[in-house]
Amino acid sequence: MSTANTLEGRVAVITGASSGLGEATAELLAERGAKVAVLARRADRLDALVERIEKNGGTAIAIAADVTDAAALGAAAERVASELGTADLLFNNAGVMLASPVTELRTDQWQQQIDVNISGLMNAVGAFTPQLVRAAAAKGVADLVNTSSIAAQNIFPTFAVYTGSKAFVSHASRNLRAELGAQHVRVSVIEPGIVKTELQGHVTDPAATAWLDDVLANQEVLEARDIAEAVAFLAAQPRRVNFQQLTVMPTFQTN
Ligand code: NDP
Repeated sequence: MSTANTLEGRVAVITGASSGLGEATAELLAERGAKVAVLARRADRLDALVERIEKNGGTAIAIAADVTDAAALGAAAERVASELGTADLLFNNAGVMLASPVTELRTDQWQQQIDVNISGLMNAVGAFTPQLVRAAAAKGVADLVNTSSIAAQNIFPTFAVYTGSKAFVSHASRNLRAELGAQHVRVSVIEPGIVKTELQGHVTDPAATAWLDDVLANQEVLEARDIAEAVAFLAAQPRRVNFQQLTVMPTFQTN
């Protein structure tokens, strides 16, 4: 089946779009015909992404915002509705991964992960779900796709807060699916294994960094585009089909 224009007429919002999974997904959804709103804090990266998408014939707007700021996300939702139309796809993807032995009491890093991965995710749900419901009523279906991680299920010592935050994402997604399905809003959670992005570069713990560097240098890990394909696949399903949870592993990875 040709995938060209399978998302024509869709209006997608992508958080965490300035790099990694979000950036690749914005480009792919736009290639497939969706209008995209790209959201993150780094405006320069978003502007460059919008320029690339437009050069490729797509439609995109950049929204510089911090997902921990609920009011900023409310304003973002208004901009999307007025400039692109009612959002019918939210790729709720902004996130941060940090690691440290719990005895080091890096409460700043604990808080940052809770703020971005949990509160930020819910701020986007709060800002955009009303549009998803409206879009589903008008078009027949809408999609909320949340980025979790295999860390939601698996055990990674020194990553307790990150893994816990992703367990929140996965279980909240399952419950939101049950709540919103009756209104034709599909909810999916994607749980990727390791993908080479900027994510690993924020880890400050030397042991965790050494482990991640070794895996990234010596293994065939996922590419951001692999997850973008998963998002496009979910959004292109017939309206009766809701993949609740998609775990995407690099072939080599055992855990
Ligand atoms: P990146 O670090 O490349 O991307 C993270 C994105 O989140 C950036 O665009 C960043 O933009 C944005 N972001 C971070 N904090 C905020 C904030 N406060 N407000 C708005 N945006 C923010 O990593 P990935 O692409 O890998 O990560 C995307 C998601 O995938 C995350 O949720 C991550 O947990 C998850 N994931 C990643 C895996 C991997 O191996 N890479 C594996 C499993 C899950 P900016 O800094 O400009 O604000």
